[in-house]
Amino acid sequence: MPFKVKTKMPGQRACNEKDAKGELCVGHLKRWFYDEPRRLNRTPDEEEALKEFGKGAEIYRCERCHTLYRPSPEDRSTAGQRYELRPVSLLGGFIHKRSDH
Ligand SMILES: [Zn+2]
Repeated sequence: MPFKVKTKMPGQRACNEKDAKGELCVGHLKRWFYDEPRRLNRTPDEEEALKEFGKGAEIYRCERCHTLYRPSPEDRSTAGQRYELRPVSLLGGFIHKRSDH
């Protein structure tokens, strides 16, 4: 089953897929933990994603149309710090600086 995989715009939180009528989907993009190790039974989608992306990839999925999104490269370099736990020493005094949108 081929996946439809898009790349998020920086800060994007809603799906921008268009349906047959040209309406935007605007479904909520949620982090998709397809490789959740505690799950005993994976859905076919999850099995397929595991093959496609490998373990631990950061993938988001639209709640409505299930389009998959890769994180924005810009989010990863700036706001992406929200998702990555880093040792305090690396950020020093900037630890409390939020780059939230
Ligand atoms: Zn959608």
